[in-house]
Amino acid sequence: MRDAIVQRSAVLWAVLVAMLASTWASDGYRPARLSLGTRVQELSPPPLWDGRELWIPAQHLEKLGWNLSATSSTVKLNDLPPDSPQATLLMTPIQVEPNQKPTPCVPVRDVVRRLGGLTRWNEETQTLTVLAFLRQVRIDPETGQIQVQTSLPVEWRTLNLSDPARLVIDLSGCALPDQPPTPEGVFERVRAVRVGQFDPTTVRIVLELDTPLTTTWNGTARQWSLSLTEQSAQVAQSDTQPEPPTEKASAEAESPPEPQAPPFQLPTVERTAQGVQVILPTSAPVRPRVNFLEDPLRIVLEVPGTLQETLEQVVDDPSLFLRALRAIPTEGGTVRLVLELTRSVGATLLTTQNQIAINLRMPRNAGGTLRQKVIVIDPGHGGNQTGARARHGNRWVEEKEIVLAIAKHVADRLSAEGATVIMTRGKDEAIGLYARTELANNANAHFFLSIHCDSNPRPNSASGTTIFFHKDDADSRALGQAILNEMVKVTGLPSRGVRSDSTLYQSGLAVLRTSQMPAVLIEVGFINHDTDRAKLIDPKFQERVAEAIVRGLKSHVEGR
Ligand SMILES: [Zn+2]
Repeated sequence: MRDAIVQRSAVLWAVLVAMLASTWASDGYRPARLSLGTRVQELSPPPLWDGRELWIPAQHLEKLGWNLSATSSTVKLNDLPPDSPQATLLMTPIQVEPNQKPTPCVPVRDVVRRLGGLTRWNEETQTLTVLAFLRQVRIDPETGQIQVQTSLPVEWRTLNLSDPARLVIDLSGCALPDQPPTPEGVFERVRAVRVGQFDPTTVRIVLELDTPLTTTWNGTARQWSLSLTEQSAQVAQSDTQPEPPTEKASAEAESPPEPQAPPFQLPTVERTAQGVQVILPTSAPVRPRVNFLEDPLRIVLEVPGTLQETLEQVVDDPSLFLRALRAIPTEGGTVRLVLELTRSVGATLLTTQNQIAINLRMPRNAGGTLRQKVIVIDPGHGGNQTGARARHGNRWVEEKEIVLAIAKHVADRLSAEGATVIMTRGKDEAIGLYARTELANNANAHFFLSIHCDSNPRPNSASGTTIFFHKDDADSRALGQAILNEMVKVTGLPSRGVRSDSTLYQSGLAVLRTSQMPAVLIEVGFINHDTDRAKLIDPKFQERVAEAIVRGLKSHVEGR
């Protein structure tokens, strides 16, 4: 009997929900998807399509990486093409989810058209694809730098081809405008530059060269330059974008190991001009899985090999960044190689035919003392941008308040340590994402710490601390590792690790992408997880976390 009642009420609910959903859908909006270049953005609540325009809830703006600043009701587009006037768009309140109050939404097609770009609607997949336009390709005759500018952020990669020597730059999520830019400038080592639409979402720039050149790059995902240098016997620099593996290399990587592998030996450690190199000889090229772990700080690699029992070598030499090397046999028949560190290090991995080399170096802007450093503390959100929020008993808890409280403690403690501290906001006010990093860049800050609380679509489904760094920036990862290493000791929350922001969005997080110094975004805990939230709102916890962040930063700088 009771079952029958439960069932009947479930049916009633279903009918009620269906009715609500139908009134909501009858407004002419339907859920759709947004793809930036080649990658679909996972957005919740989803964008809505009205037959002509895609509306996205304003809270997703940050994820697009576009140069704009939002208030509660308007969006100001910054840095528009020279021929278009500055624009401020009004947001439109739309009922994004049934039974909820309207959310301010932004018209994506209109924004992209103004920023200079292209959108394509696919009815079948209900997806709007956004493409940037290529604005400029220019070679600086003095420096030989290739400067590339696109209207919106793009993902790009370089490829070296031989016979004849060519450097290929592929911009994905990019299109040529009706009047494609003509490459400008000359450089002795570049014979010709060609620009073409390689496939519907990729623009290809080809440089014909006399001799192969390697590249290092800098800039943002919208505007960057490649420096061309003579290719030497040395392997690629760590700050070049990683080259995609060639077919050949991956085929070799998957070939089975030699039947009679020599017994596994611990790697050798050498000092180099840049730092320290840990070298493990291999009988075939391998691409090991690498993990960066905390408490204690260590780098762990899964490598092929057979081993009967654990090998350990105590190094304990801060000048080599190493406390110990360990090789541990695993059940899967591989060896777990552990590099226990004396401090946070910038680490890059290079594998060749016959070895794995782990390069360790002092992270950028580390060294010296905290007193000599300028540090920007960025409490996320503010003002009408509340950030994530969750119910706690009969009130709402907002991310902007929690992160401001923690950030203030961090700033106070850093100042007490003698550091120069700049806060992007010291009170409850709205600040654009780009204004935050501009402040840090203009101040030539050494480090940028953005403080946030996490949230995910399902309450109580995720818990713990995550620290994000941009793309594959080894210096920012080192900074994040140093901070997480101290945080995990005091939070009582799980560590979700130090992660690249490209695991979130193709273009990464705006504040990390546009800051010129090592930068991390700290997600202290999940505001919509009961355990995390109870801690996050506790003033004692906020202080403890702030102290840990400062200890982490201090150890990153001072190495103790
Ligand atoms: Zn946030």
